[in-house]
Amino acid sequence: MRWDTGPVNNAMTEYAADTEQLKRSVYLGLREGSPDPRQVVALACELLDRFHGTDAVLEVVARDPAEVPRTEMAALARRILDDVGFEPGFDLAPERLETLRDALRVMARDLTTYGIEGEPEVEVLEDRFPAGAGVRLADGGRLGWGGPVLPGMCDNPATTLTGLAVMIQESLLERTRQVWPVCPRHGLGVHGAEREREAVWWCAGDGGHVLAPVGELTHVPGPRRPH
Ligand SMILES: [Zn+2]
Repeated sequence: MRWDTGPVNNAMTEYAADTEQLKRSVYLGLREGSPDPRQVVALACELLDRFHGTDAVLEVVARDPAEVPRTEMAALARRILDDVGFEPGFDLAPERLETLRDALRVMARDLTTYGIEGEPEVEVLEDRFPAGAGVRLADGGRLGWGGPVLPGMCDNPATTLTGLAVMIQESLLERTRQVWPVCPRHGLGVHGAEREREAVWWCAGDGGHVLAPVGELTHVPGPRRPH
């Protein structure tokens, strides 16, 4: 006997789509100053139905929205989005994409030490969920398909550059099996890391040291090419 789960699956998909759409609308409202109270209430009701009854959800459902001041409603909406772990993608938070593009311009300087020339471009991978970003090189090569940079990593320049550096070096290693960059003093592969709010290439040799800030690899004397 075969169970027909079609309607159940459809209902779940519909719920997910509606709720996701409401989260996006409320987030966009917050970005513009204050969300539409009807959407906040609708989102709270959807979440309550699915047992995500956090304090903020319960408060929105219990109160008359006409009596809630706009700033308070905005604060409640923000708490609800935090409670459900809402993470805006590159489409809703284009400044994250800009931060990533800036980081790639810095990183491109280091890629020349690998022998990669030209201007690489950020490529948003729309067919993934969550939609992350990879890199398309000037020669058409693509990096980051195995583990793209996620929008949540792109809120500040140092973290973004570090995440991008790690993604790129892992993609290159996967592709060519060559360690890069290499510390000329210790002969060790270095790793992208964040130190004192700066993205750096970190070498584990002699107790650990910064080989160079990310973007400054061309200033390191000695061979840095992969080996
Ligand atoms: Zn070293």
